[in-house]
Amino acid sequence: MSETNKPDAEILNVLILGSGPAGLSAAIYAARAELEPLVLTGLELGGQVSLTNVIENYPGFPDGVGGSELGELMQKQAEHFGAKVEFDLAVKIDLSERPFRVQTENKEIQAKALIIATGASPIYLNIDGEKELTGKGVSYCATCDGWFFKNKSVTVVGGGDSALEEALFLTRFASNVTIVHRRDIFRASAILQKRVKENSKIKFVLNSIVTRVIGTEKVEAVLIKDVITEDETTLTTDGLFVFIGHVPNTLMLKGQLDMTELGYIKIDYLMQASIPGVFVAGEAADPDFKQVVTSAGMGAAAAIQATRFLENEKE
Ligand code: NAP
Repeated sequence: MSETNKPDAEILNVLILGSGPAGLSAAIYAARAELEPLVLTGLELGGQVSLTNVIENYPGFPDGVGGSELGELMQKQAEHFGAKVEFDLAVKIDLSERPFRVQTENKEIQAKALIIATGASPIYLNIDGEKELTGKGVSYCATCDGWFFKNKSVTVVGGGDSALEEALFLTRFASNVTIVHRRDIFRASAILQKRVKENSKIKFVLNSIVTRVIGTEKVEAVLIKDVITEDETTLTTDGLFVFIGHVPNTLMLKGQLDMTELGYIKIDYLMQASIPGVFVAGEAADPDFKQVVTSAGMGAAAAIQATRFLENEKE
């Protein structure tokens, strides 16, 4: 019993933070190793993949698979093997001693091993009008909000896979899509570049940045600056979709685990973070690949290592 006369909290073998492909793959492996893992979903059930319309490059689905469908299948598979998935959010994590202590919105949890799969969140443009008009035409998720732009014109910012993929998705609804990119070459994969160039609904404004979102009740236009000539033009648009990358969701662990300058948790090739017993999978530790398949692979590896770590301790 603790000082407060409350029974001590149950000590879990493995607690997994995050319910994207990394967290749920870790849950499948940890459950099959009979570690009875608990997954805390975080705010975004299924992670970023569940906001994606179609995943075409996850092996095993030659015709593609819906993002939320893939997330649901992974969760079902994890639960089938005995993992518990709870809609809850870690608000404080104490890694100073083992078992690790995690305070959630609802309770305190103790765990012998921790798998952090908290993923990443979109980067904002940080320009005038962006915050004020978020949800009123400014969006970071085409799958969530595309439908609202039926027969309307939308603007997409970015030149990576996300921007091009989401621009293509938006052409299903919007009458026209303008991609504004700060350079004249795209970093997106060749296949996506080919598809956007062939799509008659998509136009490009290159070497340009959006500097302001204009509108009162809703987005009415964006101010665009040519980065070479510095000329400014106003583009009338009903929506602004921003896809300029992500930041890892690791702030809560700052100062406790070694991280890169950008906040990615440093891990070794066995997914081990700087504190023994803490493993990290997916975008919280991956600035390079950020694919569903790589995150899932990291999740599996993290769970295998957590299993070995706990077994070694018993010996
Ligand atoms: P990303 O590859 O980092 O691309 C971000 C884009 O935004 C770049 O074109 C960048 O321009 C631009 N950008 C960054 N900051 C900006 C700013 N302040 N103002 C204007 N433009 C800005 O991000 P992502 O597209 O989200 O992709 C992230 C990772 O997920 C990548 O590894 C990608 O391959 C992967 N992903 C894969 C798929 C798929 O395979 N189907 C789908 C989505 C994402 P510069 O090019 O000039 O730097």
